[in-house]
Amino acid sequence: ETNRDQSRRCIRFSEIRAAREEGRVILETDLRRALEKREFFLVYQPQQRLENHRIEGVEALLRWNHAERGIVSPADFIPVLEETGLIHEAGDWILEEAIRQAAEWSRQGLELRMSVNLAAAQVENPHLITRLCGLVKDYQLPPAQLELEITESTAMRVPEQTLLNLRKFKQCGFQIAIDDFGTGYSSMSYLLQFPLDTLKIDRAFVKEITHGKRNRAIVTALSTLSFHLGLTTIAEGIELESQRDYLDALNIDMIQGFMIARPLVPEQLLAFMRAYDADTSASHPSAQASS
Ligand code: C2E
Ligand code: MG
Ligand code: MG
Ligand code: MG
Repeated sequence: ETNRDQSRRCIRFSEIRAAREEGRVILETDLRRALEKREFFLVYQPQQRLENHRIEGVEALLRWNHAERGIVSPADFIPVLEETGLIHEAGDWILEEAIRQAAEWSRQGLELRMSVNLAAAQVENPHLITRLCGLVKDYQLPPAQLELEITESTAMRVPEQTLLNLRKFKQCGFQIAIDDFGTGYSSMSYLLQFPLDTLKIDRAFVKEITHGKRNRAIVTALSTLSFHLGLTTIAEGIELESQRDYLDALNIDMIQGFMIARPLVPEQLLAFMRAYDADTSASHPSAQASS
């Protein structure tokens, strides 16, 4: 390799780096504007109990309606919110909006558990608990109707601090779910200490469940662990009936996925629930009666 080749490569690398950095600055500016101009909104994905087909809860998922790019996926910008510290402001808005929505639906007779994802910085923020308790009080939402989702990786980042904060969340009456379970590195001893209510098996395992014994072994093991820990088990990312049929045979309580519904804006969710209730009471009369 000649000197010329080397220097050319250096130029290319520095150009790439500059572009990337510039890209991040633009994104950060965009995100600040998004917060100011309220370009964020929440969509809600139904969670169904396998046994009786009832929709018991929804997961709130963040969306960004970007002026030029259209709807941007949270996977693309949540890391930037976290790096820039904007996650505190965004996270606060997400919590208030989800709580407000759950309370509004409750007043309309639609009682759904509201699950909200928390970023690491939020879980580790010692002031979050005061804010959360204040919000449910202001909006008159029973705290048990709010579930806080924390990914396995987030929980294990600073496990001692997480443990303390999760205990405070529990004292206030909130439910706690461990999200994307199976994709991080959990210490079983922490898993036993965390005051969990729900375990969500990651979509990656569910997706492969119809592709052979090994994938089924993992889902079986995770759901058995969750069951024996006395947790509610939710399988994420069910797209096909064949996947649900496999899960039916395991100790899985709830499913969430495109097969039931995509994440929906509030009006769509109301329409979905109306159509669903009518449909469910026709085919599963018991599901309606046992409320
Ligand atoms: P997650 O919490 O595990 O959320 C589930 C993701 O799987 C959502 O992606 C949902 O749209 C998607 N999903 C659900 N069912 C299916 C299915 O059947 N097939 C496929 N292919 N996908 C399905 P989404 O909304 O793009 O969110 C991605 C991740 O971004 C979330 O994963 C969560 O980690 C994060 N996120 C989303 N909203 C928030 C938020 O408000 N706050 C924080 N901190 N993180 C959020
Ligand atoms: Mg989640
Ligand atoms: Mg998940
Ligand atoms: Mg996920």
